[in-house]
Formats: sequence, structure tokens, C-alpha cells
Amino acid sequence: MYQYSRAIYRSVKDLIDPYGDRESQIESRRAVLFACEHTMERLANDPLYFAKPDRALFQDIRRHFPITAQAEVAWAVHAGVNAATTFIEEQIEAGALDGGVARCRATTRKGKPCQRTPLPERDYCPSHQHLDRSKVAA
Ligand SMILES: [Zn+2]
Repeated sequence: MYQYSRAIYRSVKDLIDPYGDRESQIESRRAVLFACEHTMERLANDPLYFAKPDRALFQDIRRHFPITAQAEVAWAVHAGVNAATTFIEEQIEAGALDGGVARCRATTRKGKPCQRTPLPERDYCPSHQHLDRSKVAA
């Protein structure tokens, strides 16, 4: 989920109130990044019960942006959260998320899905990580 919170942060960070002093800008950036990560974490852990996550995130961060940037921020948050929700829904459909716990995507020699936990940011566990090589190289 990390890439989604980063993407949202990247798309709004340059809109942060340009009139504050340097210190408060840094503070705002930190607060916005934290809010993005927090929202994505919550979404990943509780995808079915987190209603209107884009609205919640926008409410959390809007005070860090000037009035003139609000619409753009709202749109960026909406698009970013949407991408993350779509990803999570696909994962749930694919059965990759099982009660919030990710499973390795590999199939064992007996033809059963591998039950081990994948490596962080990967689709496969340590013993199947060779299957993920194309992704690592990219
Ligand atoms: Zn595995």
C-alpha cells in the first residue's frame, strides 16, 4: 500500500500552503504524508468497513492547503484512494487477502496454494521469491 500513499503525497505536496514559513511547510508535509500513510494502513487492514476513505483523508489534510488548491487536492486524493481501493478489491477477489493477511501467490508441488506470508512489498514468500524475479528487476 506504500506506493499508493506515496503517490497521493507526491501529487499534492507541491500544493501545500506556499505562504507559510519554511518550518511550517515542513511540518505540513510531514502531517500530510502521515495522514496518507495512516489512511492507506487503515484501508489495507479494514477495507470493508472503512467508508468514504477519500473524504476522510481530504478532511484530515485540507487545512494544509490554500483555498485555491482545495479542489485539486480533493481530486488528487479521490483519484489516489480510488486506485488503492481498486487494488484492494482485486486482491480480495483473487483471494490474496485473507482476513487482511497476505499469502504467497505460489502453488506448492502438491498443487495447493502456498500458505506462507510473502516478503514485504512482494507477492511471494522467501522460498518462492524466485518466481517474483521479473518484478524485482523492473
Ligand atoms: Zn510460497
